[in-house]
Amino acid sequence: MATTYKLLLLPGDGIGIETMAEVERLIAFFNKKSNKARFETQSDLVGGSAYDKHGVSITDEAMKKALATDAVMFGAVGGPQWDKVPYEHRPEAGLLRLRKDLDLFANLRPAICYPALADASALKRELVEGLDIMIVRELTGGTYFGEPKEIVTLENGEKRGVDTTVYTTREIDRIAKVAFDLARRRRNLVHQAAKWNVMKTGVLWRDVVTATHKAYAPDVRLEHILADNCAMQLLRNPKQFDVVLTDNLFGDILSDEAAMMTGSLGMLPSASLGAPDAKTGRRKAMYEPVHGSAPDIAGKGLANPIATIASFAMALRYSFDLGSEADKVETAIASVLDKGLRTGDIMQPGMTKVGTTEMGKAILDELTRLTA
Ligand code: NAD
Repeated sequence: MATTYKLLLLPGDGIGIETMAEVERLIAFFNKKSNKARFETQSDLVGGSAYDKHGVSITDEAMKKALATDAVMFGAVGGPQWDKVPYEHRPEAGLLRLRKDLDLFANLRPAICYPALADASALKRELVEGLDIMIVRELTGGTYFGEPKEIVTLENGEKRGVDTTVYTTREIDRIAKVAFDLARRRRNLVHQAAKWNVMKTGVLWRDVVTATHKAYAPDVRLEHILADNCAMQLLRNPKQFDVVLTDNLFGDILSDEAAMMTGSLGMLPSASLGAPDAKTGRRKAMYEPVHGSAPDIAGKGLANPIATIASFAMALRYSFDLGSEADKVETAIASVLDKGLRTGDIMQPGMTKVGTTEMGKAILDELTRLTA
């Protein structure tokens, strides 16, 4: 019998609405074809569209739905028409509230290079072709949140800015477990990147990850790497990595670096995970493309839906344990690219330019073929 999963769709604003429509086609496909899973979807507003209707960037009712669902699919928020709304109601506030209230402490950013796009990378084809790295970034602690965080004026009139990097054993242990769990489903290797040579939090990260590894995942290979060396090695020999585990600040930088090896913003998915539920063991989770609402192309049917579709593939894999279905979605994306279909953001000479719907439909057709 098929397991029923609850999925909340929050398309948001701009191209979020257009790219989520392509994910809805895939959901309808699985609901019709899969004998393993059924998705019960609900939708709601977030960002500017929620502000226009309700005067807030996400309502309490939408938050209740997000807390009760198995996974949230998020599109994108924002646009110039909301630039002047009160700060606490700006579109991004809805996204931040979701991350905070769901306590999504682990951010997963894959860097996958589809062979068909290897020549579009700034690195040489042989370095990036077939690349598949997962950056696991701690999302709720560290330098961006530590107190004190301030700019003070000193007695001599000079100013001093302070940010504080703080981590506890619990915060490091729980994200290390996410990284080890992921590695087990991949190539079984975790690189822990920190600066234990100059930072106390770096020493704690290295020690706690080592202890968690021993107690929780001795079967996974663990390497420690200085974060600056990791940044270099990502450019020199990126395929040596499988899962890279790191804190909030280094993760922000390393995930963008890894992502840019693979081309356009329109290709980049992400997931954010929280703690496992005490009863079901399932983690709270939100899946979203890395890109924003792209006001310059919104409403024109030009957006690349692949980042949002690949985010849905991550939901299949990490929230619903449907790894082979996720593989099929990713294979469908790769073969559509192999056939030469391109949205404007990834267009190359000699390829066929398509819009959002054509790209989404081509991926669905390929998925149908792979599933037959
Ligand atoms: P953006 O990601 O929206 O767009 C940057 C550039 O990339 C634009 O030229 C856009 O056309 C292009 N692009 C992005 N996604 C694309 C896709 N799927 N297909 C084709 N081209 C794509 O970033 P921005 O322009 O800095 O921000 C626009 C709005 O989005 C702002 O209001 C910003 O605050 C918001 N934003 C939201 C999120 C989010 O919801 N997670 C993230 C970043 C920015």
